[in-house]
Amino acid sequence: MPDLVDRSVKQFPIIPESATPSDALAICGSDRLAVVVDRSGLPVSLALRRDLELADVRGVGSLADPAAGLPVSVLTGEAATLSEPFSYNILPAFAVGARGAILVSGKQHAVGVLSLDEILRCLTDDESSTPSTRGLFRAFTGYLLSCDPILKIDLLSGILPLCGGSRETEILVRCPQCGCLNRLAYLDPNALPACQSPHEPGHQLTLP
Ligand SMILES: [Zn+2]
Repeated sequence: MPDLVDRSVKQFPIIPESATPSDALAICGSDRLAVVVDRSGLPVSLALRRDLELADVRGVGSLADPAAGLPVSVLTGEAATLSEPFSYNILPAFAVGARGAILVSGKQHAVGVLSLDEILRCLTDDESSTPSTRGLFRAFTGYLLSCDPILKIDLLSGILPLCGGSRETEILVRCPQCGCLNRLAYLDPNALPACQSPHEPGHQLTLP
């Protein structure tokens, strides 16, 4: 499995979550992907320019507003291989809107980004592709494209045996109800955990 860092983009816009959507769009410029960070500079979301445009349409005051609807995001270590995002505990994040993966340093700062397109290309290119990665690509694209929830579960059950578990990847989900940034080691869209908010315990996490 190839290292993700070799395929990642190292120059990308970094947008503070305190920015208004219009300021965020100005910072993003013509780039397609941007990393939104909290006040400590730690990533909270990998957003497409289109996500920032949608936040603008929603009329929120800043990207930190849960109503901004920033997508679920995948965060992995800079030494990760392709098997990390394509592990059974992380993979479903892409089916619920993760735009790719943010690679982070030991101090958790973003050092590279990979779009979902590029991650899928890694699965099919000549250097890295094997029968199992090609099977994974076919099953996963079928999963992403399927609108039928029953077929999706069937396709997913075909993918999961191809994947190992991930150890150093996490999924970031901003709770739409309270705004708490949840850090999950796995994501099952049909069985989400309680929100991790220390201030408002006891409510169910939902997806943005
Ligand atoms: Zn919450």
